[in-house]
This record gives sequence, C-alpha cells and structure tokens, in this order.
Amino acid sequence: IDNMDYDEKNDYYICKNSKKLFANKIINRKSKTGYKSEITCYTCEECHDCQYKSSCIKENNSKIFLENRTKNLQVSKLFHEKRKENLKRIISPEGCELRMNRSIQAEGALAQVKQNMKFRRFLSRGKENVISECIIVAIAHNISRLHNKIVKNKRGIYLIFVMHKFT
Ligand code: SF4
Repeated sequence: IDNMDYDEKNDYYICKNSKKLFANKIINRKSKTGYKSEITCYTCEECHDCQYKSSCIKENNSKIFLENRTKNLQVSKLFHEKRKENLKRIISPEGCELRMNRSIQAEGALAQVKQNMKFRRFLSRGKENVISECIIVAIAHNISRLHNKIVKNKRGIYLIFVMHKFT
C-alpha cells in the first residue's frame, strides 16, 4: 500500500506497473479483543504478464499458480486516515518538542534511578513485592526531582522548549 499511489477521489490504487486496483468488497472484522474494523478489498485485474508479479504477489502457500493469480489488497481506511493524522502530529514542531521531552524524561529517569540511586537489582522476590519496590523507587525519584525543582525554582515547568532546532 505504501508503495502505491492512491486516487482518493475515485478510490483506487495504482501499482508499480501503472495498473489500477479497484475496490470490490467490504469486510467487517472483529478482533479477539472485540475491536470492530471495516476492511476494503482492492483487486487488480491486469496482473497477467506483469514483470513485477513475483515480487508483488506473495506466495502465502497458495495452491493457485502464480501466473493465474491477481494482486489483492486489504485496507482499513480508518486506520490509514488515523495513521496519516498521527504522522502529521508527530513530525509537527510541537510533536518534535514532545518527542524530545519524552525521551529526555524517560532516559533521564532511568539514568537517575540506575546510576545515581544505584538501583540495579530488585531486592525482593515475587510479583507483588517487585511492584511495591518499583513504587517505592518511583516515589523516591519523584521526591528527588521535586526537591531539585524547588531548589532551582523550576516548579510548574514540565517541558523543555528548543523550537529553534526544528524551524
Ligand atoms: S502484479 Fe499486478 S498489481 Fe502487482 S505490479 Fe503487476 S500488475 Fe501491478
């Protein structure tokens, strides 16, 4: 799908061989977790004699010979729409700022706990005890962070802004 062009107005994909894949049916699916999705199936009717066929159509243990097969695509339009929206947000200046802050916060917390607090191993055994230990370490880390913020007069500041890096 990512390697094909899509004509949104007429709802068809164009493959590497400049052939069109038209929508021919819609399937409603329900995942194991109960999530319902609508899948649009696209088919290319002009795959015969295509030089890209062996790389374009996957074998998938099909009993039909490759020369008799056609390319089929299954697309969740909602998924692709959301993915496009997400990508736009992720690569926006605000998205870059948030991702950078996320990595600083996560990496910083791990470094602080592992290196500065010398917390390398759990002292207890058993799921419940380990969770309790985690919570105690997190509380200690948060108190330490709060203390630093108070000392540096940085309370209420949650993000580091370096907009100039992305503009
Ligand atoms: S196999 Fe079909 S869909 Fe794939 S490139 Fe060839 S013509 Fe296009």
